[in-house]
Amino acid sequence: MTASFGPSYVRAIAPYIAGKPISEVAREFGLDEATIVKLASNENPLGMPESAQRAMAQAASELGRYPDANAFELKAALSERYGVPAEWVTLGNGSNDILEIAAHALVEKGQSIVYAQYSFAVYALATQGVGARAIVVPAVQYGHDLDAMLAAVTDDTRLIFVANPNNPTGTFIDGAKLEAFLDKVPRSVVVVLDEAYTEYLPEEKRYDSIAWVRRYPNLLVSRTFSKAFGLAGLRVGFAIAQPELTDLLNRLRQPFNVNTLAQAAAIAALNDKAFLEKSAALNAQGYRRLTEAFDKLGLEYVPSDGNFVLVRVGNDDAAGQRVNLELLKQGVIVRPVGNYGLPQWLRITIGLPEENEAFLAALEKTLATA
Ligand SMILES: *Cc1c(COP(=O)(O)O)cnc(C)c1O
Repeated sequence: MTASFGPSYVRAIAPYIAGKPISEVAREFGLDEATIVKLASNENPLGMPESAQRAMAQAASELGRYPDANAFELKAALSERYGVPAEWVTLGNGSNDILEIAAHALVEKGQSIVYAQYSFAVYALATQGVGARAIVVPAVQYGHDLDAMLAAVTDDTRLIFVANPNNPTGTFIDGAKLEAFLDKVPRSVVVVLDEAYTEYLPEEKRYDSIAWVRRYPNLLVSRTFSKAFGLAGLRVGFAIAQPELTDLLNRLRQPFNVNTLAQAAAIAALNDKAFLEKSAALNAQGYRRLTEAFDKLGLEYVPSDGNFVLVRVGNDDAAGQRVNLELLKQGVIVRPVGNYGLPQWLRITIGLPEENEAFLAALEKTLATA
């Protein structure tokens, strides 16, 4: 007899494909871990800020006790930094947790969730996890088509996921367009505005989504400490929304979803402006280097506002996997995006200068022999 535990909508889920760990590539390809370059998971190439390492080391003495379930100090720090009451903050075990909690808290089985083609894979997973119906709106130039997303909303739509900048494409929607969209979304539909890369935006592209939260009771802004803040392994994310939404989310949130070390490190990272600035500058420099090289190689790429670039490495649907394998053999881990419906493309996280060079050298070698 075939096993058929659980609801059919759970069995239908295709598990999330993460970036390959360095240790796994070393084993598979017989390489020395120290020579491997990983540009696959949009981590901060500078690693964890020293300020956060120190805070974490201090907090280690408290690990015999449970974390502060309400994360008083971290919430106070976020409240001060973003100018909202602490009661407007929900913490997540990474912002991934926030996205999942939002789907569970707001959507019933059979209702619908709207998101864009080529947008973050977790939206599909969160939708399937609650047995909701996905309304996937075709992308325009690899980015969100907000008018079409609005038009796609039906009577049973409860949630819209918008990533800005988007992952894996790096596309960006400007503030005025987003605001006009929020104005038109029915108040019965919650918009999750996922701003995982917002700290990388140049000054002229920034917009004040926290001000929108004050205006729109159906807006939830999601942020993470995993990217620019350099704490991916600790798992901390947060949402800012008005109390009605926040209260709902917190009913489903596991009380200890953000651990003691993560809380301490996040407070330190939040206040480490120098680290953020250095990260953004390094990213901008790496972006210029990679895209100039792509131009020279005649490779199409999607202009990105994140810490990664989507590049087309061939014109056949095996290109992404083929080039990826050749890069792996040379000890360079990037992210194939065939699971996103982009089999001709690879997503490259912007690394340290020497990592970018190692990737480009391996890429050139691969393309020359292909
Ligand atoms: C990386 C990423 C996240 C989630 O990261 P966490 O580590 O779970 O905080 C959320 N949204 C987008 C668009 C991302 O790229």
